[in-house]
Amino acid sequence: MGHEVLIAGGGIAGLATALSLHDEGIDVAVRESVPEIQPLGVGINLLPHAIRELDALGVLDKLESVGIASTTLAYFSARGQLIWEEPRGRAAGYQWPQLSLHRGTLQMVLHHTAIERLGADRVVPGRHLTAIDHHDNGATAHFECRDGSGDTESVDAGIVVAADGIHSTVRQQRFPHEGMPLWNGALLWRGAVEYDPILEGRTMVWAGHPDQKFVAYPIRDLDNGKQLVNFIAEYRTDDRELLEREDWNRAGNLDDFAPRFDDWVFDWLDIPKLLRAAPGTFLFPMVDRDPLDRWTEGRVTLIGDAAHPMYPIGSNGASQGILDARVLTGCIRSHRNDPDRALAIYEAHRRPATSAIVLANRGLGPEMPMRLVHERAPGGFDHIDDVISPGEILDVTDGYRRTAGFALEALSSGVSLVDDDYAEMPQ
Ligand SMILES: Cc1cc2nc3c(=O)[nH]c(=O)nc-3n(C[C@H](O)[C@H](O)[C@H](O)COP(=O)(O)OP(=O)(O)OC[C@H]3O[C@@H](n4cnc5c(N)ncnc54)[C@H](O)[C@@H]3O)c2cc1C
Repeated sequence: MGHEVLIAGGGIAGLATALSLHDEGIDVAVRESVPEIQPLGVGINLLPHAIRELDALGVLDKLESVGIASTTLAYFSARGQLIWEEPRGRAAGYQWPQLSLHRGTLQMVLHHTAIERLGADRVVPGRHLTAIDHHDNGATAHFECRDGSGDTESVDAGIVVAADGIHSTVRQQRFPHEGMPLWNGALLWRGAVEYDPILEGRTMVWAGHPDQKFVAYPIRDLDNGKQLVNFIAEYRTDDRELLEREDWNRAGNLDDFAPRFDDWVFDWLDIPKLLRAAPGTFLFPMVDRDPLDRWTEGRVTLIGDAAHPMYPIGSNGASQGILDARVLTGCIRSHRNDPDRALAIYEAHRRPATSAIVLANRGLGPEMPMRLVHERAPGGFDHIDDVISPGEILDVTDGYRRTAGFALEALSSGVSLVDDDYAEMPQ
């Protein structure tokens, strides 16, 4: 007898799905490739609509205690001149914060909560999905045991959810000719450094333009008055020498990028100094994949980065995976006796919504004003209003909020996504 739902991949989206289904009394199990779950990655940002769902799952207090509620997003030029700032999270009137935290901490909180609630026998590490067979009542997922035994395991389920990330095995099996993720020419060096608070210590800072950019935001307050500051140093290049298969754990080399930021010394932040204080960096290319025409085949569907990997612009990577998890749960709950319909309605809600974000991020998403300022005033400006108007900036940022689903009015009802109406296909 198999599980009602089996999830392949115990990352952010997979664990959020497991917790959500379990909360609704649905029989669910997870298989994760890595044998030992470790708090990997650097900073990650969660938007208020995703936080609302984590609140409904009962993990918000814990996450707030290990992260930082960002209150402001500020754009600066490559010369460090302020272009725009806007309130974020509760400061912007949302009932939920926008949370910045270490990706590894987020994963560990979800992982431990899943073990506590589902039991360790339901959240099994060291199982790497290799293939899926479809049958009339569900699917069988085949795993290689990565515990050194050389064994294999096959698990039957009514529904299999592929939450196996940007290099999804299920996606690759389904679309064998898709190839590698698509690179837009930008390379990102990401790191976390113990540093003095930047500005007032709650602001997310974006400086520069699409060809060269620096992002920083604090992800934890430290006892010594300093903060753990997440940063991303990014530049665009034709040089493919540093390009390799995307790997979240690939170490970066300071000499490959820091010299490009040597003159980014502002009166509010000395970027070269911050970069040289970092214990290390990870190098990741700016990649995504084209939106798919279908996510679901038989009783197998995709979720999170397996379904819609997107450029890490606008804080949507993890947030959208969490929203997928919640909508999928609502659909399965509404159609316990008709999994095919549950998956069809899930896909009809989430595939168009996330495809639009993938495409919006290709068009620079909320970063467009930084590009416009760079093009119009490359040598700096006396007054920002001479270069770009608040209305022009708001057109971009409000439009992006609507596309990504976190416009303030969209969240005013306070109802979790699981409780939306999934009886019928959306119009
Ligand atoms: C190690 C790591 C570090 C990351 N660091 C950052 C970061 O610093 N900042 C950031 O913004 N984003 C980071 N991300 C990406 C971010 O977590 C995702 O973009 C987002 O959270 C969506 O989550 P996801 O669950 O869809 O994908 P992921 O978080 O990538 O999770 C996918 C999970 O599936 C597992 N998996 C992969 N293949 C298989 C298989 N065949 N069988 C079973 N399990 C499999 C992976 O081990 C992983 O746990 C990182 C991802 C990983 C895996």
